[in-house]
Amino acid sequence: MEKRFDGRKFDELREIEVKVGILSACDGSAMFRIGNTIAIAGAFGPRECHPKHLQDPEKAILKCHYDMMTFSVPERKSPGPGRREIELSSVIRRALTPAIFLEEFPKTSIDVFIQIMQADAGTRCASICAASLALAEAGIPMRDLVSAVGVGKVNGKLVLDLTKEEEDTEGAVDMPIAIMPGKKKITLLQMDGKLSRDELEEAIKLGVKGCLQIYEIQKKALKEKYKVR
Ligand code: UDP
Repeated sequence: MEKRFDGRKFDELREIEVKVGILSACDGSAMFRIGNTIAIAGAFGPRECHPKHLQDPEKAILKCHYDMMTFSVPERKSPGPGRREIELSSVIRRALTPAIFLEEFPKTSIDVFIQIMQADAGTRCASICAASLALAEAGIPMRDLVSAVGVGKVNGKLVLDLTKEEEDTEGAVDMPIAIMPGKKKITLLQMDGKLSRDELEEAIKLGVKGCLQIYEIQKKALKEKYKVR
């Protein structure tokens, strides 16, 4: 196999489109599209945390709500968050947490709502990218943006940014990775499948390379929002 199903090189990302500030009802919002995967995120806060028993006197709490539209996947998704969506909300929250100065806002909550409009693999990564931009636009103090992408192994080759078709290939390995690029820190690393130690190191390198490309696109979209016209 020299090329991938969609003709991309092994280390090539799908086409990316990013828009910041798309929803006026939110403190911050963003759309992140990578290929046929589209995530929209809206952020609120820091604001008084309700119910009060969830308040942390030491810091803000971050709440993430991930869900997919019923029409986002070929086989209709039942409305409302199920086990998978609750799990992914937690994964996304953990990937974003290190980037936020939560300690500056005791007793408050910061809320991020993410909807997947269309899914073709990599929705948790697209969600993280969209959410970090929405948080930034909301003016929430952050150490860095968070950039994320899927890496994996398909037909024996390490590949960047898997599609659903690639993920469904027999023996495929899927490894989502998120980083704070400026801080050079990994905030999420998951793996579905098995890689050798050498492959794992290569896959991390490939993922970081992809994240750095995404980071540039995220920064550009954020600056675009504040451009003086
Ligand atoms: N998917 C689907 N129906 C569902 C859930 C997921 O068709 O109810 C597809 C969708 O394309 C998704 C992919 O399976 O992107 C992989 O889902 P996974 O749970 O691995 O998370 P993701 O890769 O989206 O972060």
